[in-house]
Amino acid sequence: MTETPRPLVPSDLKRGRDIELTLTDFADRGKSLARVPSPDKEGRGYVVFVAGAVPGDRVRARVQKRKKGFAEARLLEVLEPSDLRVQPRCEYFDACGGCKWQHVGYPDQLAMKAEQTLSALTRAGLDLEGADVRPPLGADDRDGSGGTYFYRNKMEFSFSAQRWLTDWEIASGEEFDNDFALGLHVPGRFDKVLDLKACYLQSEWSARLVNRVRDFVKGQQWTPWHTREHRGYLRIMAVRTSAHTDDKMVNLVTTHHLPERIKALAGFLKAEFPEVTTFVNTINSGVAQTAFGEAVHTVFGPGVIRDKMGEHTFEIASNAFFQTNTVQAERLYAVAKEFANLKPADVVYDLYCGAGTISLFVSDAVERVVGVELVEEAVQNARASARANGVTNCEFVAGDMLELFRPELIEEHGRPDVLIVDPPRAGMHPKVVGQIAHLRPERIVYVSCNPHTQARDLAMLQEAAAYTIEAVQPVDMFPHTHHVESVVGLRLA
Ligand code: SAH
Repeated sequence: MTETPRPLVPSDLKRGRDIELTLTDFADRGKSLARVPSPDKEGRGYVVFVAGAVPGDRVRARVQKRKKGFAEARLLEVLEPSDLRVQPRCEYFDACGGCKWQHVGYPDQLAMKAEQTLSALTRAGLDLEGADVRPPLGADDRDGSGGTYFYRNKMEFSFSAQRWLTDWEIASGEEFDNDFALGLHVPGRFDKVLDLKACYLQSEWSARLVNRVRDFVKGQQWTPWHTREHRGYLRIMAVRTSAHTDDKMVNLVTTHHLPERIKALAGFLKAEFPEVTTFVNTINSGVAQTAFGEAVHTVFGPGVIRDKMGEHTFEIASNAFFQTNTVQAERLYAVAKEFANLKPADVVYDLYCGAGTISLFVSDAVERVVGVELVEEAVQNARASARANGVTNCEFVAGDMLELFRPELIEEHGRPDVLIVDPPRAGMHPKVVGQIAHLRPERIVYVSCNPHTQARDLAMLQEAAAYTIEAVQPVDMFPHTHHVESVVGLRLA
């Protein structure tokens, strides 16, 4: 019989030491935590975070960091697996940064996301008493796979001269070509890329495309990008598909414009993937490994794909911002529209409006919509989409909210009855929150991809103006990741 190890105490949490612990709760950014209480009343208790572990797991882990009140440990071994664990679908799960939550059943993923949203709001001191707190809106079963796979309309597969081998690839004893990979990054390692033969995020078709294009370009002996040495030709293959049309775009990002090569690849695509409706070649000669570059050449097709959100059609260019999960985004927008309780005479401000998708989505229910967005190209896309859809009651303003959201803007565009805000992860600037409190619109809908900054901003808002939280809806836009979207509806008390 093995001796039961004594419970951990804070002095066990030394850097580099291996410990055994049982995780009890989900924590932020996809980690789980265990509590290590202090043996005496005066002492400090600790929280230990372990990435990759699940509540209920008993694990062996190595302490990597110890700070005031918390420590971080790296998972070494699962000694007793939690009941929450399921078999991940993807064979690259252990190594890939794509979907880190496949080892937790989908209903439990949703429960974890709802818990994150609600605990952030209550910890910030917000009163949810009387609010309509709804169960999380998960992905539907659309294709028999639970609707939790194949949900992305855009993927960026990287080429790399530094291939990362999975444990099972190494164990297979096969000889691998280590200096070519086309796939996704290992988490936190931008120089290391897995040579993915399968991926369940976009479509079976897109996974097949990756495999065939890899064969083709390797056959041509085109060189992949070397992150550390900054050389090579092939950088990224970005694939865009559409939820509501058959449009498909391939965007090959290369360091140079070599028309003969691109012509050869275009011929290959036309012969083997006639479903591709447009092919573009982006030139990025810079150091940063992104799909944006200094030039975009349209090789064939219109250079854009079309997709729909609600009733409206959007033309999406290779470098345009568009929600990556079209179906769940439409459901999120429907919630935002419902929470906004729109009236025909309303003036709505859609703040942080991106390409204006929310503006257009609510435009039929109100008098006027004013969208504000930092990125000039996104504003141009929003204007073009409004025009193309015959929407005449939306105006878009380009600029930084911090500078723009002032009395002058309100004088020019009218007082808002409703604000819909959808800021980036960092949330809103305190001065913007102050402006909103000063303006006192009757209704506010706060859409967020970060429950913490959302809770922080709402607490700040409630300090300054009397708003009641009427409804909360967590939405899952990214199954198998820790990301959660949350919609909160408020009304002036
Ligand atoms: N509501 C949109 C996009 C939300 S993403 C949609 O549903 O598609 C957040 C947006 O805020 C991004 O488009 C980003 O460019 C914009 N943004 C970030 N900081 C900003 C700022 N300081 N002022 C205005 N817009 C900003």
